[in-house]
Amino acid sequence: MSQADSATPFFQAIAEQIRTELAPITQAIDQKGLYPGDFMHHLGALGGFGAALSASEGGSGLSLAEQIEITTQVGRECGSTAFLVWCQSSCGWYLKHSPNTPVRERYLEQVARGELLAGTGMSNAVKHLAGIEKIHLRAQREDGGYVVNGSLPWVSNVGDGHLAIVAASVEDGGYIMFAVPSTSEGLETRACLEFSGLEGTQTLNLRFRNVHVPDEDVLAHPEQFAAYVKRIKPGFVLGQTGMGFGIVEGCLAIMRESNASTGHVNIFLDDQEADLAAQLAALKTQAAVLARQAQAGGTPILPVLKLRAAVSELTLKAANSAVLHAGAKGYLMLHPAQRRLREAVFVAIVTPALKHLRKEIHDIEQAAHEQHDAGLPAQSTRYSLFANQ
Ligand SMILES: Cc1cc2nc3c(=O)[nH]c(=O)nc-3n(C[C@H](O)[C@H](O)[C@H](O)COP(=O)(O)OP(=O)(O)OC[C@H]3O[C@@H](n4cnc5c(N)ncnc54)[C@H](O)[C@@H]3O)c2cc1C
Repeated sequence: MSQADSATPFFQAIAEQIRTELAPITQAIDQKGLYPGDFMHHLGALGGFGAALSASEGGSGLSLAEQIEITTQVGRECGSTAFLVWCQSSCGWYLKHSPNTPVRERYLEQVARGELLAGTGMSNAVKHLAGIEKIHLRAQREDGGYVVNGSLPWVSNVGDGHLAIVAASVEDGGYIMFAVPSTSEGLETRACLEFSGLEGTQTLNLRFRNVHVPDEDVLAHPEQFAAYVKRIKPGFVLGQTGMGFGIVEGCLAIMRESNASTGHVNIFLDDQEADLAAQLAALKTQAAVLARQAQAGGTPILPVLKLRAAVSELTLKAANSAVLHAGAKGYLMLHPAQRRLREAVFVAIVTPALKHLRKEIHDIEQAAHEQHDAGLPAQSTRYSLFANQ
């Protein structure tokens, strides 16, 4: 199966918007923490968040493979903004797959078109379900909805006029996933300590004090949650590969540029442009195949986790090599090589972080071995979503 065709008028319009609206502000996004809100709204109007959504959902009816290609194009210019594209398109993906009509009707089209910007505060829940940490948000059932308390340390693409999509454990058992508008009573945002990169992502601390979540804003109730997370997880993890691919492509451009003047000495470096480009092409092909399977709802999670880990590893390798190719020039604050290094580290620490991926892969393979040793058939292998309960 081929990768997304980036030569169509749809992709050309996006490339032009990146060249004219994003490239001039990349430096300010990285060093002044400028949040590219206008770029995000305009990208949404071009269909930049809705490739995996149908026309009736506000999308362009392509697939997750094309959504990954859009995120890649943005990441080739700016890794931080590529993360925002992932946040926004993932919220569209979550809403698309919600079994509950009211929440889809309230938010899906506006999110798909970039009219309503949205953040995904799912790191804590995803880490909790993988047995890494305790869940931070707690919900209690009440008439017509739930009341939620707790806080999430870092959620990007949120703030005034935005939506956040998060998950909480429920007092009577199970979990819910829900949308929360910034105007909800009892929801507070606080600034985070300064980051070394990604400062332009409007990443805030979200605090919930008795926030009422109406049933109309619930994406999954406790009885729907396990099947729902199983449906959305391959897609949102695959979506992040676009950030890594874009950053690697940016790094390859730096290497080519540096080789024009210092290629005679750069050839002694470990990771050469041609090798990294070949590794990138292989991972992009895998991503396109898995993304089309995820769109249809038939991807097993293990190859997705392995691909996502491989993308983190390649991104780190490419960014290291790019700065070594560029030399002292690449160490200047004005040079993209040092920015790429900080962006690449983010790909490997944002949930699912490289260490988290390796743990989940280990747990799944371990469970499969144990079942094999117990003489159970391979197809009965199951991995608990609720490893931390
Ligand atoms: C720039 C940036 C943007 C992010 N955007 C999002 C987002 O949009 N959505 C989202 O859900 N997550 C977001 N995160 C969180 C991210 O996905 C990871 O969950 C987070 O980096 C912790 O992962 P870890 O592997 O370091 O955690 P671990 O090393 O496994 O554990 C760290 C533990 O310490 C706690 N902790 C550490 N420092 C603090 C602190 N200052 N305040 C409170 N708790 C702390 C964490 O909650 C966690 O339990 C963002 C992080 C960064 C740096």
